[in-house]
Amino acid sequence: MSSDCLFCKIVRREIPAKIAFEDDQVLGFYDIQPSAPVHILFVPKKHLDSVMQATVEEPVVSLLSDRAVKTAEKLGLQPTGFRLLINYGPHAGQTVHHLHLHLLGGAQLSHL
Ligand code: AMP
Ligand code: ZN
Repeated sequence: MSSDCLFCKIVRREIPAKIAFEDDQVLGFYDIQPSAPVHILFVPKKHLDSVMQATVEEPVVSLLSDRAVKTAEKLGLQPTGFRLLINYGPHAGQTVHHLHLHLLGGAQLSHL
């Protein structure tokens, strides 16, 4: 946990968010500035700055993608498809330094 981290504050319920998924390790909440009709962020409850802290010893990306895929199926996105995305660093435009996986779907997305 990091006391001044935005997503840690959401995990601790100090800042409100619309929750889409929760278990003991992962929280999924709707992005405040959605880039698609469905835009959910999946974060580990334990603070990690970025994907650079996700290692074989800390296989958190597979945890996040598992929860994101299950949520996508639950929301009915599976037949039409969806995108999973992690930004790291300035070139990718990472703005919040708590690892998060974006789930985007619900409409045709622009090709990367
Ligand atoms: P990234 O650019 O990959 O670091 O993504 C950060 C995302 O967090 C952006 O899509 C923001 O819209 C989103 N975001 C920032 N503040 C909040 C918040 N309070 N609640 C939900 N999403 C947020
Ligand atoms: Zn954090």
